[in-house]
Amino acid sequence: MESFDGRTVVITGGGSGIGRGTALAFAREGANVVVADRDGERVAAVADEVQATGVGALGVVTDVGRDDDMAALRDATLERFGRVDVVMNNVGIITIGRPETIPLDEWRHAIEVNLLSLVRSLHLFLPLLLEQGEGHVVNTASTAGLFAYSYERLPYTATKSAVVGVSESLALYLRPQGIGVSVLCPGPVSTNIAGDIRFHDEVPINAPAGLQLMEPEPVGELVVDAVRTNRFLVLTHPEVHDVLVRRAADPEQFVADQIASLAPLQP
Ligand code: NAD
Repeated sequence: MESFDGRTVVITGGGSGIGRGTALAFAREGANVVVADRDGERVAAVADEVQATGVGALGVVTDVGRDDDMAALRDATLERFGRVDVVMNNVGIITIGRPETIPLDEWRHAIEVNLLSLVRSLHLFLPLLLEQGEGHVVNTASTAGLFAYSYERLPYTATKSAVVGVSESLALYLRPQGIGVSVLCPGPVSTNIAGDIRFHDEVPINAPAGLQLMEPEPVGELVVDAVRTNRFLVLTHPEVHDVLVRRAADPEQFVADQIASLAPLQP
């Protein structure tokens, strides 16, 4: 997609962090932005920021875990802007606990919010993009979906791995039909996500080794660039590429190295 002037971009989880950073990056390029988030105050604040750049802004309070909210998001977007060009499925939540303690209901909740939200979005927005014969889908996964650096967030790892797999398969389906697909796999980014973590027991928290915390605004710029150039894999930390090469070259050694880098389980 060469120009974003007058295009319409829908971003779930757009009220904070990476979603907000991406909303503002697209707005600076002239796109109208629909900010969808379950937090009404954040929706209003980011929609105001988008509008201040001079483009059209629409805030829609949306829980991506609810079918009716997602349908209302599509309807409100079409009513206001008449079309959809870019859909960014960006909501993700983290549940922390040992593999043997995270309750099944927490798994269900994570799958609902992190994965089935994407399915809902596909059902609602893909027919519009296919009808147009152009558009772009951006799915936010994580480095957690590319390689294992922890064991204490299995529902997150499972759903983010699934988002990577679904995105890659979607690219096979959609690219030949003129629709781009990107999967964003951030390393550590300074956002509000930690405040929403659901903890189930006391367990050390592990992070991908050697990756510096970055700000959400440059992540938004990376997303805009990926849509512009129709790039599939979007890494916020280029060194993740080397990690993936090491993993592919020697999976046994990779697992051993990852174990060696974990925080001690017993204090
Ligand atoms: P954030 O908490 O700053 O923003 C996420 C937004 O999603 C929040 O405004 C929250 O209100 C909203 N949200 C949560 N549940 C929702 C729901 N059910 N319906 C609608 N909105 C909901 O977090 P972030 O770090 O910007 O996260 C964005 C995405 O980036 C997530 O998918 C996350 O997994 C991914 N990610 C983040 C990091 C990181 O280090 N921050 C790293 C890798 C991947």
